[in-house]
Amino acid sequence: MSDFDILKSKLVDILSSGNVVTDQDACKFYSQDVYSISDHTVRAVIKPDNITELSKAIKEITSAEYTIFPRGGGMSYTGGYLPTNDKSIALDIGNMNKIIEINLEDMFITVEAGCTWSQIHKALKDHDVRPPFWGTLSGLYATVGGGVSQNSLFFGSGLYGSAVDSVIGLEIIAANGDIIRTGSASVKGGNNFFRHYGPDITGIFLGDTGALGIKAHITLKLIPNPKYREFGSFSFEHYEDMLPAMSEISRRGLASECFGFDPYLQEQRMKRESIAKDIKNLSSVLKASENVFDAVKKGTKLAVAGRRYMNDVIYSFHATSENKYKGSAKADMEEIKEIALKAGGKEIENSIPTLVNANPFLPLNNMVGPEGERWVPVHGLTSHSKIVDLHKVVDEIFESNQEIIDKYEIGVGYMYVTVGTNAALIEPVFFWQDQLKELHLNTVEKKHLKSLKGFDENLEIRDAVNKIRSQLINLFMDQGAIHLQIGKSYLYREGLEEKSFNIVEKIKNHMDPNGLINPGSLGL
Ligand SMILES: Cc1cc2nc3c(=O)[nH]c(=O)nc-3n(C[C@H](O)[C@H](O)[C@H](O)COP(=O)(O)OP(=O)(O)OC[C@H]3O[C@@H](n4cnc5c(N)ncnc54)[C@H](O)[C@@H]3O)c2cc1C
Repeated sequence: MSDFDILKSKLVDILSSGNVVTDQDACKFYSQDVYSISDHTVRAVIKPDNITELSKAIKEITSAEYTIFPRGGGMSYTGGYLPTNDKSIALDIGNMNKIIEINLEDMFITVEAGCTWSQIHKALKDHDVRPPFWGTLSGLYATVGGGVSQNSLFFGSGLYGSAVDSVIGLEIIAANGDIIRTGSASVKGGNNFFRHYGPDITGIFLGDTGALGIKAHITLKLIPNPKYREFGSFSFEHYEDMLPAMSEISRRGLASECFGFDPYLQEQRMKRESIAKDIKNLSSVLKASENVFDAVKKGTKLAVAGRRYMNDVIYSFHATSENKYKGSAKADMEEIKEIALKAGGKEIENSIPTLVNANPFLPLNNMVGPEGERWVPVHGLTSHSKIVDLHKVVDEIFESNQEIIDKYEIGVGYMYVTVGTNAALIEPVFFWQDQLKELHLNTVEKKHLKSLKGFDENLEIRDAVNKIRSQLINLFMDQGAIHLQIGKSYLYREGLEEKSFNIVEKIKNHMDPNGLINPGSLGL
């Protein structure tokens, strides 16, 4: 028997044969993410059902000197879970998707790492609570494990920061199979209610893109779900006016979500949303509304506004204010409006934030362009004082590549998001004509796929996109910007001061002395 066959039979003993997959198509599928296909293919995919199976399987895999690559929903595009050698096993955490405990007395929720944000949203719906950060736009498939391993933004980020800021504690598997607890639950006889006790051990494992250990259980804090939400949208001629307005809203803590688009991305978004979906979304807006009359009026306005009103819009941002008191939510939105108008913005219909909030976790059809183009974002996170200048230097990179962009008809847009009171994100997004891969074909809804034109494989254009994207990644490092979903794409090691990186490396050596957990992630 080969060393792989021996390992496989041990894994089958632990997990049952259905949960150890060696089928070639499956192995290829698990060796690609939303953007890339690895040069290496995993030898097997394991799907443990619980933490005990997970810990035993990890121990066997590392004892056999195979490497393990953890994958949640697989909705990332920075190589985070892609294999980097030929002795690789993919861990699909998807079977571990249970909600372990909702504790309303101590205000926390504990989930298995494969639980999605959408599942949490549904489970908490009738309890009037939620985690402060409550999910990504990809939350139908994206898991809590993936979200806190690479850090994520969106719902709740304007007030409460990124995904990791909502975490109280973890149960992590080290390379030798040990189960390690963090937070107040790590105290002998302790329970989950607080993250910090001495040094923040939880924090070390958050945003590690799965390089330092495998997350099995995650505890998130809960807050009362604010009953009232107000929505506002504003258009601007120049981002130099819009971004400072968004920053001011962020500094004053007025919006739970504050995000913007440039004209290109706005247009793509409008092309992608189908009328049928607008109507489906509208029915949820109607259902969610307190006053039927108001809702019908609002609904009609949205239906008309949804498509046509954006035609003249150049840049736009969209904000949600939330509060347990209607008057306070309204007052915050008034203040947002005041800031936007003072900065030169115009108020437009608030369809986008209204619809996004009514249906937060839609199918991930946006992972491809309106005609079936390939899609990939790249981003930099910076301080309010630097966001406009960062945008300018990013523009310069695109200008220097204008000839290539025109030649290959590469589409380029921008998304902007504020985070808490002190950070802003700029996310250039590429669309290009190239073939969709298994991951896209498996994720995008079948009926949506059928409506797409689709394109043949085009390595030349893909290479051009790759080069511009790499230039941006280098630029972000030179500008001192930081990143979520570092994976194997962003220059974490290269950009970090050596003494700081040494600490990360020492923790890696402690958790995974032979470098068998997700090698390559974080540059380790
Ligand atoms: C259409 C679309 C919309 C998106 N919207 C957003 C958005 O609103 N905000 C945002 O921030 N991002 C967004 N993303 C990016 C991505 O979906 C998120 O970052 C998401 O958090 C990824 O979660 P996942 O479960 O799919 O993780 P995966 O892609 O499976 O994994 C991500 C990383 O985490 C590691 N990992 C996963 N599970 C574990 C575990 N249990 N233990 C240790 N390591 C683990 C992996 O090794 C990998 O490095 C979007 C992507 C798409 C395609």
